Amino acid sequence: MPFEVVKLTENVYHLQSGANVGLIVADGRALVIDAGLDEEMGRRIKRTLESLGVSLAALLLTHGHADHFGGAAYLRRNLPPFAVYAPPLEAAFISQPTLEGMMLSAGAAPIDQLKGKFTLAQPCAVDHPLEVGTLNLLGLELEIVPLAGHSPSQVGVRYGDILFSADAFLPVATLQKYPVPFTVHMAQALETLRRLSALDGVLFAAGHGAQLSDAREVIAANIAVLERLIAMTLERVRAAPANDGTLTQQVCAALGDSLPNAVSYGLARTAVQAALVYLYERAQVTFEAGGLWRAVL
Ligand SMILES: [Zn+2]
Repeated sequence: MPFEVVKLTENVYHLQSGANVGLIVADGRALVIDAGLDEEMGRRIKRTLESLGVSLAALLLTHGHADHFGGAAYLRRNLPPFAVYAPPLEAAFISQPTLEGMMLSAGAAPIDQLKGKFTLAQPCAVDHPLEVGTLNLLGLELEIVPLAGHSPSQVGVRYGDILFSADAFLPVATLQKYPVPFTVHMAQALETLRRLSALDGVLFAAGHGAQLSDAREVIAANIAVLERLIAMTLERVRAAPANDGTLTQQVCAALGDSLPNAVSYGLARTAVQAALVYLYERAQVTFEAGGLWRAVL
């Protein structure tokens, strides 16, 4: 994976790689936001801190996906003690990473395809809950912003005009490659996207892709993809009552997601399930004995 340290302001950096990392410096100490996929990214974070001559004081983890906290265990082992913060529900996944494979395996023990580094990171103990609202660290005033939808309690970190926005939205190229993006709560994801789209004068430092001074087009594309997923799910249920597995296959076939392995299937099944829950809560589908979803006519 390529790696680039992008300086956003005098004391703020965006470490861009497969999954990005944020870095804020204050008086010889640093806050790091997310830890990247693996040990390699952990090593790069450590080297970046060394080159800036700063020590790590706190690691803020936005959500419990392996590609965003996989480097944390390396940092724990190889740096002097620092504090780790994460939203409580996300912290469960960060401290017990086998939960991600179980989630993608409908709660069952996962098959080996679900135990690669993208879905099974090394565990990292979380010291403090990361709650929405103002957080003062290292003399800096941060705003912890709710970004639920992509994961249950995902948060972003705002510092001045910069928002580390985690996976609230994905780059357009990623949406083209994965037309059924992982989502656990459609209404929350859409609310998050609309709220971010209304922010003025914010520089977005997202979890994937380059920094964006104007994210409206990308956010609009993310909204369109979720709305299309909801509409396609309703269209398939209207065509014939079906269970979640059949609907996942049908919806993904219609949207061009070929589901090549257990990871892609698990991710897509959760997103389709989230679309079904969205439709159920709006009384557009019902759930029947036997596991069938049926359209309300
Ligand atoms: Zn994620």
